[in-house]
Amino acid sequence: MADIAQTLDFDSYWMPFSGNRQFKANPKLMVAAKDCHYTDADGRQVFDSLSGLWCASFGHGRPEIAEAIAKTAKTLDYVPPFQYAHPMAFELAERVKNIVPAGLEHVFFTNSGSESADTAIKIARAYWAHRGRPEKARLIGREKGYHGVNVGGTGMGGIPGNKAFFGDMLTTEHLPHTLIESNRFTRGVPEHGAEVADVLEQRILEHGADTVAAVMVEPMSGSAGVIVPPAGYLKRLREICDRHDILLIFDEVLNGFGRVGASFGAELFGVTPDIMTLAKNLTNGAVPMGAVVTSDAIYDTFMDTERPHHAVELAHGYTYSAHPLACAAGLAAMDIYENDRMVERAAELAPYFEDQLHALRGAPHIVDIRNLGLAGALEIETAGEDPTYRPWKIAQAAWDRGMYLRFGGNTVQLGPPFIAERRDIDFMCEVLDAAIRSVD
Ligand code: PMP
Repeated sequence: MADIAQTLDFDSYWMPFSGNRQFKANPKLMVAAKDCHYTDADGRQVFDSLSGLWCASFGHGRPEIAEAIAKTAKTLDYVPPFQYAHPMAFELAERVKNIVPAGLEHVFFTNSGSESADTAIKIARAYWAHRGRPEKARLIGREKGYHGVNVGGTGMGGIPGNKAFFGDMLTTEHLPHTLIESNRFTRGVPEHGAEVADVLEQRILEHGADTVAAVMVEPMSGSAGVIVPPAGYLKRLREICDRHDILLIFDEVLNGFGRVGASFGAELFGVTPDIMTLAKNLTNGAVPMGAVVTSDAIYDTFMDTERPHHAVELAHGYTYSAHPLACAAGLAAMDIYENDRMVERAAELAPYFEDQLHALRGAPHIVDIRNLGLAGALEIETAGEDPTYRPWKIAQAAWDRGMYLRFGGNTVQLGPPFIAERRDIDFMCEVLDAAIRSVD
């Protein structure tokens, strides 16, 4: 164990989504980050196979971002976002608007993906209320979906382990997921299963369209292990929503800004939602920030509703919405995104990543390999009772071999930085192969 670990009080920091007891026995401490690597407390270079948590995709330690944050901290540390603003908020909103698919025109800032999900849900409900249809309030998510951990997103999400013990979050129901056995080991977008979308129509007809506000899905489900929507599936969801006058929300917190090999899942699949949620790469992970982007129809409904001139249109927002440091980081990140052709880089590396990932098929315990853009997952055969045991062991073995590897449910997940080279992908897959072979 590194010397620094001996000096820390492990009980005072309650780590999120972590095995706290297990961490104490084998602490994994990062002390620096640059490009595609962390430096751990022992001074080892550790390859970052998930861009942090899918958020530092343009590479760690970008000096442009660091300088923008430092400059802003000295000159404009904070501005109240209620009734007051600063120019960077408008500048970043315009940049985001220009990047997302046409039709999404108005940007509301949050501080995380979870806040973006809950904000999107509230906007959807308030939209129908402002249109005189408050009974259109029912929310539909999807099994295996992940929309963060706040009350709305927990309810909309469909990963059972994330809901246990919390009681009622938000009453929602869930469409079936699209993980279909006949699609196993598909490279990229699976062929089978567009018709799974039709369950949405059945649900709408059961309940009556006049009770349904919105459907929320991730185009590609990330946290549940890179579940790629079958060809035609999202288009079908869009058509059903249009037929019944229901809002379609895409959670692009993880998909967005190049991860799927296109700017957004919406762009890749040719489907524009009414609301899109963002976070993660928006600041390249350097400062917490999220965003919700809506159509004109939604924004105009709020702006045009009859009320006193000084009244707020949406009683929602955070002390740190559009925080100056986050906006500064976001503007610098968007410069990198555009000037360094991040989407193109991700798209150029993606076929090589796909080849190397699928070459792991010969390793033991692999039930499925899935990928899209620079996102990939290996589904691991369950050993005994606990589906997470073997993925956890594989992640430990990867750490011992100099790689940070994320596990979740019965999967291990890959999301290398877009600046990775082919040799980094080779290293990543060699470590994975050895790590998988090292566990029973
Ligand atoms: N939505 C999706 C699709 C995500 O992948 C995540 C984070 N993994 C979130 C929401 C939550 O984001 P945060 O952890 O920033 O709250």
